[in-house]
Amino acid sequence: MKFNYVLILFFLFFFNTFSAQTKVSPEYIAVEWSEIQFDSLAIVNRMAYADTANFMHEKIYPCARCYLRQEVAEALLEANEIAKDKGVTLVIYDCYRPYSYQFKMYEIVNNPTYVAKPGKGSNHNRGAAIDLSLMDENGQLLDMGGAFDDFSAISNYAAEGLSKEARKNRRLLRRIMTRAGFKPYDGEWWHFDYKQKRYETSDFRWDCL
Ligand SMILES: [Zn+2]
Repeated sequence: MKFNYVLILFFLFFFNTFSAQTKVSPEYIAVEWSEIQFDSLAIVNRMAYADTANFMHEKIYPCARCYLRQEVAEALLEANEIAKDKGVTLVIYDCYRPYSYQFKMYEIVNNPTYVAKPGKGSNHNRGAAIDLSLMDENGQLLDMGGAFDDFSAISNYAAEGLSKEARKNRRLLRRIMTRAGFKPYDGEWWHFDYKQKRYETSDFRWDCL
């Protein structure tokens, strides 16, 4: 009787281990998460969806934390070093966005032009995209010719009517990020994808303790 019990336990353990391995793809297991430590890195935390100061005027994230896939986080640290050399500071607006929060945003906005349809998932849901801007040494945001999450034509990287200063600042941000391995997105001057795109969408949610 006792022996059978042990056998069942062993079977359950083996079965669970085996089924867990078959459910999750190898890429997913291999790629870890990393949190950006804003204070120690002197990166400015402006996570827009952990506040109501965003285009939806709704708080989507319970708290402002920036998670990225480990190698994406490493690339961002490299971008931070390049930015420091140039005398500017990175200001982060968004990082990894849990898949279920994408649904929440889509329900509020209900417009695929502004929020990607949850079905496809964006690189933010994969932990491989960052929205950011730059600050000068006095803590002033650089003039980018338009605000983050402005969905008008001015957000296009090469928008017409941009001042010389705004064009220069957008170019500087793009240069920093591409040198660190990111790919710019012409439709939004603030959005950068990591070159690596094999990550799966995720609904991992961070603690707020
Ligand atoms: Zn983005």
